[in-house]
Amino acid sequence: MINYTERISSLMEDIVARVPKLSFIDMSRVLVFARAGRTDAEGAYATCHCVCLPASEPGYYFWRDRTTGKLTRRSEWFVTKSPEIRIGTQQIDYMISFALPRFCDQMLSRSRKQVHYQGQPNWIAKLDTIVHELYHIDPERPGIRRMERADGTYSANCHGQRFFTDVVEMVQQYVATNPDPAVYDFLEHDYEAIQARFGGMVGTTFRGFPSYPQRYTEVLTPQPDSPPDVECRVEPLKVARIETAFTEDDLVMREFMPTTSRQLVRKGRFCAA
Ligand SMILES: [Zn+2]
Repeated sequence: MINYTERISSLMEDIVARVPKLSFIDMSRVLVFARAGRTDAEGAYATCHCVCLPASEPGYYFWRDRTTGKLTRRSEWFVTKSPEIRIGTQQIDYMISFALPRFCDQMLSRSRKQVHYQGQPNWIAKLDTIVHELYHIDPERPGIRRMERADGTYSANCHGQRFFTDVVEMVQQYVATNPDPAVYDFLEHDYEAIQARFGGMVGTTFRGFPSYPQRYTEVLTPQPDSPPDVECRVEPLKVARIETAFTEDDLVMREFMPTTSRQLVRKGRFCAA
C-alpha cells in the first residue's frame, strides 16, 4: 500500500529545497494529514491550517435592543486559541490536509489551471495544489500569507491573481530543476491506478477522524471586570469540551477507499514523518 501523506510530505521537502521562494519553510514543523473526500463530491482538494497563531484578544458576544441600541446581555469573556501539536519534541506550526481519494483524481483538463500549463500532463494540477498550499505559509509571521496588492496595501483575500501566477512560476521552477521522478511520480496515477499498482492507499489522520485539531474558544478565568458602559446580564458561554493538545499518539493510519475509509490496526509504532 502507498502511504500517500508520507509521499506528499517527502515531495514537499524536495520542493522547499529546490524552490528559493519556499526555502524558508521548515518541513519538520509542517504536518501533512488526510481528510475524507470522495472524488464525485464537491470540496477543496487541500487546505493549509495554521496552528501557531497566538491567542486572540479577549472578547465577548453581545446582544442589543433593536430600538434603543442598548446592550441587553453579553457572553462571558473568552479568547480563541490554536491547538498545540507536538510530534516527538517538535512543535508543529502548520498542517496541510488533503482530501482523499479526491485529490488523486484532480485533473488539469477539468480545471481553470489549464491555461497556465499548456501541453503539460494532467498530474501537474496536483503539483500546483501542493505548491499552492505551501505558498500559504507566511514567511514573516505566524499565519497565512497575506497578498500585497499592486498599490502596496494588503488584500483581504489570501489569494488573488498574483498568488495563482506565483504558484505556476514555482511549479515550473521546480520541474526545471530536474527532480528525481521517484519523488513525484506517484502524482501521475489517479486513484484507480494507485489501487491497481499499490493495492491500496493509506494516509495519516487524527484518531478522532473525521475531526482534527482546530482553533478553539476558552472562557477566561478569572473574568475581567466588564467595561463601565457594559452593565448587563452576563450569560455563561457554552464551549464544547475538546482536545486542545495533540501528539504523535493521536495520529493513526487510515486506508482510503472510494467512498469510505477505515482505521488500520497499529502494528508497533509508526513514524509520522
Ligand atoms: Zn488557497
